[in-house]
Amino acid sequence: MTHPDLVIRAHRAIVDGAEREALVVVVDGTITTVDVAPGALDRAPTGAPTVTLARDVVLLPGLVDTHVHVNEPGRTDWEGFASATRAAARGGVTTLIDMPLNSSPVTTGPAALDAKLASTVGKLHVDTGFWGGVVPENLGRLGELWGRGVFGFKCFLLHSGIDEFPPLDPAQMLAAMAEIADFGGLLIVHAEDAETIDAQTPPDGPLYAGFLDSRPVSAEVRAVAQVIDGVRRTGCRAHILHLSAADALPLIRDAKAEGLPITVETCPHYLSLFAEEIQPGATHYKCCPPIRDAGNREALWEGLRDGTIDLVVSDHSPCVPELKRFDTGDFGEAWGGIASVQLGLPIMWSEARRRGMGLPDVVRWMASGPAAFAGLPDRGAIRPGARADLVVLAPDDAFVVLPERLEHKNPVTAYAERALAGVVREVYLAGHRVDLDRPAAGHPVFRPIPSPASSRMETPA
Ligand SMILES: [Zn+2]
Repeated sequence: MTHPDLVIRAHRAIVDGAEREALVVVVDGTITTVDVAPGALDRAPTGAPTVTLARDVVLLPGLVDTHVHVNEPGRTDWEGFASATRAAARGGVTTLIDMPLNSSPVTTGPAALDAKLASTVGKLHVDTGFWGGVVPENLGRLGELWGRGVFGFKCFLLHSGIDEFPPLDPAQMLAAMAEIADFGGLLIVHAEDAETIDAQTPPDGPLYAGFLDSRPVSAEVRAVAQVIDGVRRTGCRAHILHLSAADALPLIRDAKAEGLPITVETCPHYLSLFAEEIQPGATHYKCCPPIRDAGNREALWEGLRDGTIDLVVSDHSPCVPELKRFDTGDFGEAWGGIASVQLGLPIMWSEARRRGMGLPDVVRWMASGPAAFAGLPDRGAIRPGARADLVVLAPDDAFVVLPERLEHKNPVTAYAERALAGVVREVYLAGHRVDLDRPAAGHPVFRPIPSPASSRMETPA
């Protein structure tokens, strides 16, 4: 028998959707045994490095955050691979997938992906994959990036915030869907309708209500309906990014009942923050689509509870503090984006537990759900054959968010001074304890591509 690299004796672990006592055996970075039978902890193999966890911690699979804006290369003063993956590791995220913007170049072709990969060398503290982007200019050529192992393609239906990443109009989105469906890919959509938003008064000044009115619920509902219609017409697999408007949930519920291949995510900020608490000039709360009222927040929780919402990911989107325009507090001028890759787990756990939900739910939303959505079958769960990406969480420990303790490059946060439950004590990547003082041990990760020569799954070179 191959000798284990690591044995973890956990009094509490989330396995198969429940908290259980578990003995976890790791060989070559992969979990080979998960023993949950009575007395499992007494059956640890001898002679292997063994960790016995305290009774106040729970062993979770590492989280998979499929929505992170790293911004390197090109906007590395906003964020970078080293800082973003440090923050991820501190937050219990062991795999992240980087968005095709706001780096420069944007990831809309193989050369841009090469530039991005080159900029990761020596910097990844957790495993990192990549989304491609679809813009009017690369329609018809998406297969090139797909063949390079991106996980799918992001598009906008309105101005993205940066001019290098223009949106698709409705006809172009349909063309993208037809093309992506042809090779069995995935389209992920920023679903706010341009026409609806163009008809509103643009945001101006420090009052949050003005910004909220400028990006109404109807813009999201209309865009979601367009995406669903496109899926029905093309058969393309599609995903609604960062859903904020709970009014769109019935449409999504019906589309799923119809059997359409559509999934939806929301983010910790839409599930924890609410419009009524946002003070004048508090632009660290600005994101698109916007944080809506408290009733909407609870309706999103219902969508999570009944399974309409598939996953919760950060939409970590930092910028330099100057772009938040704290000098004027103007919601029209401030950059939109909330950085939370380090805090997603405690935010979600704090909010879930007060609504009577448990860590198995959090694991489903933030680990197994995103892994399944992205097509990473060996991540997001503690089971034999999965990678030994693991998190040791003290669920009853609490902390107060201090911006200076955040690892991301610009510690502007909407969560300063908030008390959160759930402290990440240790993180393991492929069976090795993550130590941020040592060289970064993460790797680029690609969509598994079936090799034509065999049935084995391989990753591109
Ligand atoms: Zn985003």
